Amino acid sequence: MIGTSFGLTDEQREIQQLARDFARNEIAPAAEHFDKTHEFPWPIIKKAQELGLTSMNVPEQYGGLGLSLFEEVLVGEELAWGCTGVSTAISATGLGWLPILIAGSEAHKEAYGGRIADGELAAYCVTEPEAGSNVAGIKTNARKVDGGYIINGRKTFITGAPEASFYTVFAYTDREKKHKGMSGFIVDRDTEGVSVTKPFDKLGQHASSTAGVIFEDVFIPDEKLLGSEGMGFLIAMKVFDKSRPGTAAGAIGLAQRALDECIRYAKERESFGKQIFQHQAIGHMIADMAMNVEAARLLTHKSAWLVDQGTPATKIASFAKAFSADHAMKIAVDAVQVFGGYGFMSEYPVEKLMRDAKIFQIYEGTSQIQRNIIVRELFGKSR
Ligand SMILES: Cc1cc2nc3c(=O)[nH]c(=O)nc-3n(C[C@H](O)[C@H](O)[C@H](O)COP(=O)(O)OP(=O)(O)OC[C@H]3O[C@@H](n4cnc5c(N)ncnc54)[C@H](O)[C@@H]3O)c2cc1C
Repeated sequence: MIGTSFGLTDEQREIQQLARDFARNEIAPAAEHFDKTHEFPWPIIKKAQELGLTSMNVPEQYGGLGLSLFEEVLVGEELAWGCTGVSTAISATGLGWLPILIAGSEAHKEAYGGRIADGELAAYCVTEPEAGSNVAGIKTNARKVDGGYIINGRKTFITGAPEASFYTVFAYTDREKKHKGMSGFIVDRDTEGVSVTKPFDKLGQHASSTAGVIFEDVFIPDEKLLGSEGMGFLIAMKVFDKSRPGTAAGAIGLAQRALDECIRYAKERESFGKQIFQHQAIGHMIADMAMNVEAARLLTHKSAWLVDQGTPATKIASFAKAFSADHAMKIAVDAVQVFGGYGFMSEYPVEKLMRDAKIFQIYEGTSQIQRNIIVRELFGKSR
């Protein structure tokens, strides 16, 4: 096991290879098409569903693959190598499912885990137009009424919102109690009063859809509350501990792809009578890429493994997320440099990688917020 021998079990190798083959045979060849058209990659999603890749973190008893977070990270890196827009579209359901896994009742898990296993998609609704980093600043309200709650509010930047058939949604049930008054709910897309905005046009990850979700007097029965009233903020924070290693893995897949493209190109391209990697400036840039991809991978594997052991992993999950995202961005920018003028052209792969990389420093908590968490972990607790 990783952490002791750094080895993978036979099953882990198998699932990693399955994801690698899927990325090379299904995702990478279609990536340019979905990047250019901004279409949702339904044909790939359907094939991913057949392999269980949209239900990786749904336990087997509810019909999913039941992978550990460490295994999910292995798979996530491979899929992201093919295209991070497509891999984000695949993994968004796993994120939407996490609040149910963390705080849902047996009935929730059976019903919604089963729906995911049957091919339905989910989305995670926290962010609002005026509250992203500051989760406690959300305005969405859930007013208690007989038999349930009436939800009103507006979520934005929700990955997979247009295609999802249910959402995990955070809202205040008691604003006076500040973040202790926030609660989590499961909301079916077809509930009266729920609507989805037109998807946003984005810098990158065009294959992944991002839209707003609006709740207007939406009645949600008591049974759709996750855990108990007031648990919402805690659930959202627990989701981040589990989701950040996966997001880091996406950044690593992108960075590994940029590195692979650079190694290939720097051997083919010549200037001043030499292959360009033989110019020390280019060779060293690629050496730095390789070092940082490996370092990001080790941090991410460790963070996922700790989560699987049930060990507190908030600090290392933030290390992994910030380090992987920041290095993926730098590596993608450097990859464009290695390709010179061709790097700026969309017919070469690194231009897309540079556009796709940026989001890793923003979603699932920005790189600044990760550092705030690290400072809090370093200074906020007695050691
Ligand atoms: C493509 C995409 C997909 C997304 N998918 C989802 C999703 O599925 N579900 C969901 O709920 N959300 C999603 N998000 C939202 C995402 O998590 C937020 O955009 C992100 O957390 C940042 O919030 P914000 O955009 O409001 O920026 P702000 O919070 O307004 O931050 C703006 C800038 O200020 C900095 N900043 C803010 N506060 C601090 C601070 N205390 N200290 C230092 N710097 C600070 C930030 O780092 C950032 O640089 C997505 C966003 C995008 C762009």
